[in-house]
Amino acid sequence: MVMYDIIEKKRDKGKLSKEEIEFFVENYTNGNIPDYQASSLLMAIFLNGMDNEELVNLTLAMAHSGDMVDLSSINGVTVDKHSTGGIGDKTTLIVAPIAAALGCKVAKMSGKGLGFTGGTADKLEAIEGYNINIPQDQFFDQVNKIGISLISQSGNLTPADKKIYALRDVTATIESIPLIASSIMSKKLAAGSKCIVLDVKMGSGAFMKTIDEAKNLAKTMVDIGNDAGRKTVALITNMDIPLGNAIGNSLEVIESIDVLKGRGPEDLTNICKNLAAYMHMLCFDTSFEESMSKVEEVLKDGRAFEKFREVVIAQGGNVDLIDNPDHFKKATRVIPIYSNESGYITKMNAEEIGKISVRLGAGRLKKEDSIDFSAGIILKKKVGDKVEKGEIIAELYTSKEENLDELTKMYMDAITISQENNVDYKLIYDIIK
Ligand code: URA
Repeated sequence: MVMYDIIEKKRDKGKLSKEEIEFFVENYTNGNIPDYQASSLLMAIFLNGMDNEELVNLTLAMAHSGDMVDLSSINGVTVDKHSTGGIGDKTTLIVAPIAAALGCKVAKMSGKGLGFTGGTADKLEAIEGYNINIPQDQFFDQVNKIGISLISQSGNLTPADKKIYALRDVTATIESIPLIASSIMSKKLAAGSKCIVLDVKMGSGAFMKTIDEAKNLAKTMVDIGNDAGRKTVALITNMDIPLGNAIGNSLEVIESIDVLKGRGPEDLTNICKNLAAYMHMLCFDTSFEESMSKVEEVLKDGRAFEKFREVVIAQGGNVDLIDNPDHFKKATRVIPIYSNESGYITKMNAEEIGKISVRLGAGRLKKEDSIDFSAGIILKKKVGDKVEKGEIIAELYTSKEENLDELTKMYMDAITISQENNVDYKLIYDIIK
């Protein structure tokens, strides 16, 4: 088999066989196929798509390119959750402890942020001492003992996805349904959980910009999961507006604590309650109403917050920060952004806001960049809010000195203020089973 023929076939809208797909995945992962041929094939897939059989074969080949985690030593029903990525998306820090407090087993591996979206592994590392790289036997033990462990993706989980994702990131081939679906579902299948809840983000701060694209991606991933014997559900949720009011690693941990203590922002709390309810439903075959009332119970009586404390303690994190969030290290500068007119905020460009946060130091422009955990943005006003001229609409947190005027202007340009408040937006667009 030669790579040239595989590229040519996909370029001419042909269907790739299982063997051809496996040949590509195996040999690209091993370094036998150069980046220029792999990127050519990825662009052909981007332009010409894949049918279901090709997609399942690609997903399985990627899943089997490294370790397939065996969670059979865990007593109970395992559940995973994955978001397609967004701005201010700290839901894992909240839903994982809620689900664990309800008896689900959460053995969760998360990635780092890249591009304008954040990553859960970085948020966890914002908690001083928290070890995201514990050995596998400790990971299993901890899930058996306290029902939850949150770690970084193991070194050898889906190495094919690591290489392909990095190549897509620099070859304009990210926003492709077969490539996103295989990337996410290969990781979920390799990570081993029996139940999977997917949070498919839709809007200006997400890879999927329209409801039709988001539904198509969600349905594709749910089918792959269910066909592989995993109970899978997807929620399509709003990412036209950043989620919650905090963007940036330690700021997001603090906001997660607020939600777990029942005093978090309404949009974030609402999405988390729904995601957690679906995690519980899949594990225990309950009705949505029953699961939702249990979720509300553990938030109210403090069991979800206590579970978060437990996982932080078990993984070496400084629990004083969880009990006293004002002890998190602060950014050296807080720059208020004032509204230059009165009216209503009717639009926020979430992607631009994510990019500002990265430039303040909260994310990486390159894989090897280090992160300033204290950097980020606090949104004081969001879509639908009334603002007066001169009122603070956001605060930028940073320890950098340069480009601050430019970032302030970028923030103003990312916000639309209108005289009429005609905004009507949904938080959850659809549930795909
Ligand atoms: N998240 C992933 O893990 N992969 C993609 O391709 C897009 C979002």
